[in-house]
Amino acid sequence: MTAQPTVNPFWAGARSRCPSCGRGALFQGFLTVVPTCAVCGLDLAKADSGDGPAVFLIMIVGFIVVFAALFTEIAVRPPIWVHLLLWPVLAVGLCFGMLRPAKGLMLAAQVRNKAAEHRSDHD
Ligand SMILES: [Zn+2]
Repeated sequence: MTAQPTVNPFWAGARSRCPSCGRGALFQGFLTVVPTCAVCGLDLAKADSGDGPAVFLIMIVGFIVVFAALFTEIAVRPPIWVHLLLWPVLAVGLCFGMLRPAKGLMLAAQVRNKAAEHRSDHD
């Protein structure tokens, strides 16, 4: 059993760092979670955020992009090609840019709150 993490889960998630020590890398590759933290040895093999980060991002980015598109259309009334060029690029860019921090935050919240998926047999 590990001690209660003292690292801020928002800070650890945003930096893609271990939710327990805040120093070890959380991912190998883009979104693959390391099995154990290289610094403190936290077992992350059973940590699974599932679809949670993607669902939150779809809702948050969708709200931002739709609001920005409507505001731009009402305020500026640009040609349609501006909409077709701008909003898909922004939506995809925001999703890819925020996916790692969102997954890191969700995993950090799971570890901090001792979510069932993260519990090991030794707890
Ligand atoms: Zn660690």
